Amino acid sequence: MMNFSFSEEQEMLRKMVRSFVDKEIIPNIGEWDANQHFERNIMKRMADLDLMGVCIPEEYGGSGMDYNSLAIVCEELERGDTAYRTAVSVHTGLNSMTLLQWGNEEQKQKYLVPQAKGEKVGAFGLTEPNAGSDVAALQTTAVKDGDDYILNGSKTWISLCDVADNFLVFAYTDKSKKHHGISCFIVERTMPGFSSKAIKGKLGIRAGNTGELFFDNVRVPKENLVGQEGEGFKIAMAALDNGRFTVAAGACGTIMACLEESVKYCHERRTFGKEIGKHQLVQQMIAKMEAGLQMSRLLVFKAGWLKNKGARNTRETSLAKWQACDFALQAANDAVQIHGAYGYSNEYPVERFLRNAKAPVIYEGTREIHTIMQGEYVLGYREDKPLSKMLPAWPYEASKQEIIH
Ligand SMILES: Cc1cc2nc3c(=O)[nH]c(=O)nc-3n(C[C@H](O)[C@H](O)[C@H](O)COP(=O)(O)OP(=O)(O)OC[C@H]3O[C@@H](n4cnc5c(N)ncnc54)[C@H](O)[C@@H]3O)c2cc1C
Repeated sequence: MMNFSFSEEQEMLRKMVRSFVDKEIIPNIGEWDANQHFERNIMKRMADLDLMGVCIPEEYGGSGMDYNSLAIVCEELERGDTAYRTAVSVHTGLNSMTLLQWGNEEQKQKYLVPQAKGEKVGAFGLTEPNAGSDVAALQTTAVKDGDDYILNGSKTWISLCDVADNFLVFAYTDKSKKHHGISCFIVERTMPGFSSKAIKGKLGIRAGNTGELFFDNVRVPKENLVGQEGEGFKIAMAALDNGRFTVAAGACGTIMACLEESVKYCHERRTFGKEIGKHQLVQQMIAKMEAGLQMSRLLVFKAGWLKNKGARNTRETSLAKWQACDFALQAANDAVQIHGAYGYSNEYPVERFLRNAKAPVIYEGTREIHTIMQGEYVLGYREDKPLSKMLPAWPYEASKQEIIH
């Protein structure tokens, strides 16, 4: 049976995150954005509110809620600003959920539990100066040396680069095997030879922390290899199924914010003797935002429903991410249009929404990559094979952790 309603717990979660965003993010975000300031205290507050491990099982320090609850958190956070939703995307979506799916018990206890509790922050290092969409072009290497691997190379455009304690880092253990020669490691900030540097001057998400990671002979114990040697590409793609889900949900939050601000302005601003909301061409922009929001949410929550069932959802998540981010960028563009010249200044938040809405169309698979994926699925050129380890279904049952070989 189809059920489109949220549970009481999910409604309470939404209310709680909304109130937090209204009180602690929205009043300050204009200043943080203008100063390119990442407010670390917000991460601490999110940890206090148990928002750092919403869908991680209680056994592993999380709240044990379902995957659509994570989507609700992301929607509400991005209604305030993209920066803190991005933080949850990398911490929970790309890092913690990957440990839940692929990590062994020791790795879960050592890294997942403190991350889910919000005591430690996780991030995800895949992109390099010469490897974005083309992941196999990465150049970072991991060479076995006794009981350790020695990592050398660099990453760029990494969210939470100066903030995270632990990073999932992808490196070649055997370049000759191409995709099958990439491996995934947990790297701690405190490991000698690791350093990071923020990128300044970004178009948007200016209140977010994004930048470079450097590995200069970083010695990583073999216990920190996630999965098997050579499984890194598969792990990275599976991680993106979760990260993209959070990005898509966040895009719905951007549209919500655009609608709120635009509807308010439509009632305030008058031209030709009436509220601008009474002009049909303005109504058309509002109607398109509403349509984009409703369609995106259906795609997002369907992807979350598949995750809850423990089913493969790469195709549905890609579609949700592509469409929701495109709708959000269009909504932000129209929100500025509705505000006229005032929308072009930081007197109103819509110019920030427009600057913020561009990055999600680029990261976690560009619009073009998702378009190609969807075309290939429909034409029968792409098919998802079962993974050796699936994201656990919700509710979590340790005994049901399925291993398909
Ligand atoms: C704010 C921000 C935060 C980020 N955070 C992270 C993070 O935490 N971790 C991380 O690993 N990365 C992160 N990234 C990096 C992001 O994932 C990459 O930028 C993205 O994958 C695109 O790679 P690229 O920038 O190298 O573009 P490229 O891959 O060089 O693409 C350039 C252009 O060519 C197009 N293109 C490329 N290949 C094809 C093709 N086959 N067919 C058609 N068109 C194509 C692209 O769509 C794009 O328009 C972040 C980026 C930003 C902007």
